Amino acid sequence: VNHYLKNIETKAHLNAFVEVYGPSALQQAATIDEKLEKGTAGKLAGMVLGIKDVLCQEGKIANASSKILEGFESQFTATAVQRLIDEDAIIIGRLNCDEFGMGSSNENSVHGKVLNGIDETRVPGGSSGGSAVAVQANLCTVSLGTDTGGSVRQPAAFNGVIGIKPTYSRVSRFGLIAYASSFDTIGVFSNNVKDNALVLEIMAGPDDYDSTSSRKPVPAYSDLLHFDKPAKVAYLRETVQGEALQPEIKQRTLNVLEKLKNEGHVVEEVNFPLLEFVLPTYYILTTAEASSNLSRFDGVKYGYRSPNAHNLESMYKLSRSEGFGEEVKRRIMLGTFVLSASYYDAYFTKAQKVRRLIKEFTEDLLTKFDYIVLPTTPSTAFKFGEHSNDPVAMYLEDLFTVQASVSGVPAISIPNGKDGKGLPIGLQIMANSFKEAELYAFANYLT
Ligand code: GLN
Repeated sequence: VNHYLKNIETKAHLNAFVEVYGPSALQQAATIDEKLEKGTAGKLAGMVLGIKDVLCQEGKIANASSKILEGFESQFTATAVQRLIDEDAIIIGRLNCDEFGMGSSNENSVHGKVLNGIDETRVPGGSSGGSAVAVQANLCTVSLGTDTGGSVRQPAAFNGVIGIKPTYSRVSRFGLIAYASSFDTIGVFSNNVKDNALVLEIMAGPDDYDSTSSRKPVPAYSDLLHFDKPAKVAYLRETVQGEALQPEIKQRTLNVLEKLKNEGHVVEEVNFPLLEFVLPTYYILTTAEASSNLSRFDGVKYGYRSPNAHNLESMYKLSRSEGFGEEVKRRIMLGTFVLSASYYDAYFTKAQKVRRLIKEFTEDLLTKFDYIVLPTTPSTAFKFGEHSNDPVAMYLEDLFTVQASVSGVPAISIPNGKDGKGLPIGLQIMANSFKEAELYAFANYLT
């Protein structure tokens, strides 16, 4: 704990942590020392973790990087976090992110932007930017992020670390401040596959507080990392061909596929004609869900209330106008638009149908093949401000990560070398729902 506290102080300018729980972390460490002596310590004894600012912890502030949750203190702890604490993980602090998980650059945060630790003029990715930087810069061993459309995998790629988005429903969402409930997952950042697998196996599993959490038993992922059978790997032609793809990323992805072929695995090219519909589907459905989820922030129940309000209606309007950031407001507007009576069928219903097509295509492909391999992102970490005035350019950053989110299948991003500027490149692997053990074993084989 002392080691990390010192690093956090030295690297404070990266702005990864928004709050450090120094005294309570040291106290927890002392208690665990005693347990170790008695032989009663849990499976994560001594593991130091950082937690994204959208996960609730009892008695602690949670802001979701939004002014609207200013001063909000949670009365309970998220199930995922509680399970880690029960196994003696030490929570060292709360990590910066994009407001309510909306963004791909960590520029949308009331706590200010997070710097990429490899090149400080560049974004760390988002929305779990703080979580990725914390692991990359050695500010904690493992961190938790959330991934709705790529928010663990994309920052993992931009920082050269490992990041997993589990199957939707594998980890309870109880205590996670919602963005888009049918997409939200809690994921893990780490420097190696084993730590990642261990943390996920402890967090995962049924929870009475989340009726959508899966009842399927959780395998001991961290004991199943050995990979010895030939794999059947598909890659989607459209994901290695697009003009938007940085040439070095394309090359490195093709190199991995070539290597797999040479090592005796089956590698086949598959057409994915639906690729162009994946982003619009994602942004229609997630904004719709967000506009509904965020209606609870009305100046009454949580956090910020405008001091300028003079009656009930102005309290709602001013609290929301002053409390939400620009990107969040844009999404609430988009979401209410696609859900409005005159456009519901044209956008929302249509997107639900396309979601089904994408999900069926993906699941079907993943019954014929063990894995789909593709780049995590179309580019390496970009400069601050590069996409700030162009939301569509920002949304295009999620081109390769949203397929797994729309389909609900698990996906992992692992480091795949660097580009000419020394910036990390990510390789993404998808497997079928609940095949996290297989995903980790393959990731382990490739790293
Ligand atoms: N960048 C995507 C978005 O803004 C993904 C965010 C996420 O996964 N939370 O919606």
